[in-house]
Amino acid sequence: MRKQGIGEDELFCFLEAKRNKDIRYDLILSSMCTRPHPVAIRAHNLFMETNLGDPGLFPGTHEVEQILVTRFAELFSCPEAGGYATSGGTESNIQALRIARQIHPTKRPNVILPASAHFSCQKACDMLGLQMRCVPPDKEMRMDTDVLAGMIDADTCGILAVAGTTEYGVVDPIPAIAALAQEHGIFFHVDAAFGGLVLPFLPDSPAFDFSIPGVSSISVDPHKMGMSTIPAGVLMVRDPLVLHRLNVDTPYLTVKKEFTLAGTRSGASVAGALAVLDYLGRNGMEAVVSGCMENTKRLIGGMEAFGIHRAVTPDVNVATFMPCRIPDRWVVSATRNNHIRIVCMPHVTRDHVEAFLEDIGELNVTAT
Ligand code: PLP
Repeated sequence: MRKQGIGEDELFCFLEAKRNKDIRYDLILSSMCTRPHPVAIRAHNLFMETNLGDPGLFPGTHEVEQILVTRFAELFSCPEAGGYATSGGTESNIQALRIARQIHPTKRPNVILPASAHFSCQKACDMLGLQMRCVPPDKEMRMDTDVLAGMIDADTCGILAVAGTTEYGVVDPIPAIAALAQEHGIFFHVDAAFGGLVLPFLPDSPAFDFSIPGVSSISVDPHKMGMSTIPAGVLMVRDPLVLHRLNVDTPYLTVKKEFTLAGTRSGASVAGALAVLDYLGRNGMEAVVSGCMENTKRLIGGMEAFGIHRAVTPDVNVATFMPCRIPDRWVVSATRNNHIRIVCMPHVTRDHVEAFLEDIGELNVTAT
């Protein structure tokens, strides 16, 4: 550490130079995060110094978190559901599987999930000592329920499925999986970190939420399609009491127990999350999602016109394609099967899609 501090001008000159090295969102086609909505930034700044880890000191911020939870309870068709704000999908998945393990104690617990599950599940299973049983995908990259059924045994404490997979943007067959989970009395977590703020706003969404008996918990990330500031995730549980299975004593705080994974938790991005939902309302969210889906369709149509075919037809705004040459200035990603992957987030406008298609056409059509 420096012995003598530096001046503010010098400091911010240095920080700005670092920040300028970052890639601008305009060119990022690979991320599930996006530029925060202006109301999220305003709310974030207002709640900058708050700590949800000690709610008695910040009762107003705690109320904001509770309201956010009730918004998701309504959105996910179960007004009695509970939950809390996490740092994102990773923490939500860890906590959901922690609950599953608590509810079904066994010597060699296992969790069954699709091979397409987010890598956070691997972290969760590693931390929690859970055997991870992966169900291979069907040809549309969804979880195969017949294979799942054959993997369940007495040590299965949880099943996890994904509503809006990270790599292919598809929704696993949640009703069929939920039916199996219910039949065997197994905790069933739906990872809707991405899809949770897309699917409720689609005209013909595949079912994924608490309206399906057998869905025990859902994760959703406002810092993805919710356009909040980072970090903002939410873990929702059908039965709020299951959260208390994770309680530990917190002797020196204003509350005597807590079930969260993180101790200190910023209220800033939580306020940001609520701000966006309340500012846009259902109509506003529908407009955002519809724009992203239109851009996804246009992108798929445009790529296929160049002979670059889709890998699957997505349920949400993630498009995947057969390998092709990508113009240098754009940032796309590759799936584990080497498909090109593009996420049409709110910052990816129609102009960006058209400019990308033009570059792709030049590179791939003239090259062939
Ligand atoms: N679950 C899904 C489906 C995701 O797509 C992601 C991230 O993209 C995560 C979990 C992890 O979320 P985070 O990076 O916010 O922890």
